[in-house]
Amino acid sequence: MELIFIGYPGSGKGTQASYLAEKYGIPQISTGDILRQAVAGKTPLGVEAKRAMDAGELVPDAVVIGMIEERLKASDAQKGFILDGFPRTIKQAQEFDRILYKIDRQIKVVLSLEVSKQRIFKRLTSRRVCSNCNHIYNLIYDPPPENGVCISCGKAASFFQRDDDKETTVQHRMDVYEELTQPLKKYYDGQGKLAEVDGSLNIEKVREQILAITEAAGKEK
Ligand code: AMP
Repeated sequence: MELIFIGYPGSGKGTQASYLAEKYGIPQISTGDILRQAVAGKTPLGVEAKRAMDAGELVPDAVVIGMIEERLKASDAQKGFILDGFPRTIKQAQEFDRILYKIDRQIKVVLSLEVSKQRIFKRLTSRRVCSNCNHIYNLIYDPPPENGVCISCGKAASFFQRDDDKETTVQHRMDVYEELTQPLKKYYDGQGKLAEVDGSLNIEKVREQILAITEAAGKEK
């Protein structure tokens, strides 16, 4: 099962990808997470990526393509993978198609989570992150625990707003998405792989729609 999630930042890609990864026993590969780890570890990649990330810009195509190519070689990715946050430009999608061809793999479905811009803005600027484990909370529908103990890692933590979730950066990330990532819908539609999902519903309802699509795709083979 090889899947791609596309959608505005904050459209729920991470949440849904992590559920599917567990269900199908395949890795969720988030370029945003890999980059954030590199930033935290102050690796050369992290140092290079940090400025773009903080400003809500994309890091260079060649950097993320290289990261993904390496990541797909790992043994846990041989049965399938779920990409969350990659590809993000037409160039990345084209390069990725070349990589897939080389390793004789194929994307089954590209799930596009459809959520209005207004809703995305509210969701992102309300996001708070655990200082220990990066678990994501939301002030509106999933607030951080009042006792200060993260429900995910069980440790006392502070819950902070990522620089890229601040208002002006969120606006910019949404503009970048529209300009550079939205065209991927047409690209994958042309390959007959695009499936649109109403991402404005609650997590369970979104999950149901996705499962209907992935189960049907799994049967096609
Ligand atoms: P995310 O958590 O997916 O929203 O990613 C956070 C940030 O990492 C983005 O705003 C970009 O700066 C960078 N990033 C993640 N994935 C990609 C990608 N596929 N191409 C370029 N930049 C990326």
